[in-house]
Amino acid sequence: MQIFRTIEGMRAASRAARVAGKPIGFVPTMGALHEGHLSLVRAAKTHSDVVAASIFVNPTQFGPNEDFSKYPRTFERDCELLTKEGVALLFAPAVEEMYPVDAMTYVTVEGLSERLCGKSRPGHFRGVTTVVSKLFAIVEPDIAFFGQKDAAQVAIIRRMVRDLNIPVEIAACPIVRETDGLAMSSRNTYLDPQQRKTALVLHRSLEEVKRRFESGENNAYKLIEYGKQIFAEEPSVRLDYFEVVHTENLEPLEQTAGQALVAVAAYLGNTRLIDNCVLYA
Ligand code: AMP
Repeated sequence: MQIFRTIEGMRAASRAARVAGKPIGFVPTMGALHEGHLSLVRAAKTHSDVVAASIFVNPTQFGPNEDFSKYPRTFERDCELLTKEGVALLFAPAVEEMYPVDAMTYVTVEGLSERLCGKSRPGHFRGVTTVVSKLFAIVEPDIAFFGQKDAAQVAIIRRMVRDLNIPVEIAACPIVRETDGLAMSSRNTYLDPQQRKTALVLHRSLEEVKRRFESGENNAYKLIEYGKQIFAEEPSVRLDYFEVVHTENLEPLEQTAGQALVAVAAYLGNTRLIDNCVLYA
């Protein structure tokens, strides 16, 4: 695996692959890799000739009181895992390489960026869309792979790519879970053993909503209530949001019809976890 620290180096390598007629599959990450990330790499491998990945803990998507400085960084191990999975090109720039001190340009998908996590993390999605559009401009991938774990992120990036005519296909891959159901996340490493057990409440609440939906409940408010009741069993967990929204525009739904995204975010101590499922009518 070739590792590039500069934009110039990464761009030259991905251009060389394209000139050689090899489609590039791209997996952007913030590192601290787990099976969820590796599932994206495997999907990229089956759909493209050359797999490129990036590891960049992007400061612009973290709020001032969030975990940017303590976000887990496990670069050596990440490189071993990516090498084993057959990644050919890794882009791992420093913050100064990605953001000139006088950078003034941001990419914002208006409206969508204020929904779900965007409400409690102002500026988060603006940071995501800005860095992802920069990464697309540098890597110029044919297909980029994102996890359904961050369902709002997928919807927002799809909209950005469509609105700005960015020539990349966006592929969304299923959520990878621990055997007990907890969605894998780099932030799970923050949880102490008790919190790790309690964290299952997110998955449990989604399972309850799915069960109620499958038994015929279509009213979104009622489904949300059923989900919230599960959270009431865990008073140490602070619910951030529990919503049923349209999968593309992220608008709250009154009734589930077609596809509905059930999305949840909650704090365990200072650790914020998210999870979701899609209900198919
Ligand atoms: P991150 O490093 O957290 O920015 O995540 C990088 C990519 O991995 C994003 O597209 C995430 O949605 C995806 N991802 C993270 N966790 C999971 C998971 N448990 N299952 C599937 N994809 C995931």
